[in-house]
Amino acid sequence: MNVIIFGPPGAGKGTQSQYIVDKFNLYQISTGDLLRKEISEKTDIGNEIDNIISKGDFATDDIVNRLIKKVVTNENHRNNIIFDGYPRNTNQAENLELILNADNQFISFVLFLKVSRETVEKRILGRIICEKCNKIFNEFNEFNEKKEIENHQCEKKYLKKRKDDNLETIITRYDEYMKKTKPVLDFYSSRSYFYEIDGSVNIEQISSKIEQILTV
Ligand code: AMP
Repeated sequence: MNVIIFGPPGAGKGTQSQYIVDKFNLYQISTGDLLRKEISEKTDIGNEIDNIISKGDFATDDIVNRLIKKVVTNENHRNNIIFDGYPRNTNQAENLELILNADNQFISFVLFLKVSRETVEKRILGRIICEKCNKIFNEFNEFNEKKEIENHQCEKKYLKKRKDDNLETIITRYDEYMKKTKPVLDFYSSRSYFYEIDGSVNIEQISSKIEQILTV
């Protein structure tokens, strides 16, 4: 199956994608991760987008579509993908359908995580990511216990804040979402495979709802 997880920045897409990967053995495509990789490897694309992403603006569709096409049609991943952070506008949604149709693949589920702006801000401001294994934590106790961070298996030096996780950038990222990404909801919401999920409850409750949906 191919799954799209969708929602505002900080909705928990990355966290729930990790759960889905472990539970259903899917391959995660996070366009944010793909773009950050280009930046850290200082490729031509990386140098072009570093500034854009730091400010919270979107990378161009051309760059993102190019990066995604290679992975989507890869023999090892096809029909076994969770898309996290893509599509982010209707042009990308249309492009994804073209790529999938041409490769005889289709979308099985669209999961929309619905959360308020206040929750989003708090989650993003507390977010800590392990650069080695990509596991996501939160320094606020209400999201995960401190000992989970302390007991994490990778060395402490890999635990980092994302450069774009600051208040100023969050505002731009949220505005970008409202302007460009929210219309993607209209693109999918009438489809039979569209599911809206309350993303404001705790991680385990969201995961369990997702499990129910994906095992129907
Ligand atoms: P994320 O890791 O999903 O929060 O994405 C981090 C940043 O990467 C976003 O704020 C955008 O600047 C950029 N980005 C990620 N995915 C896309 C996409 N599908 N299209 C354009 N820009 C993207």
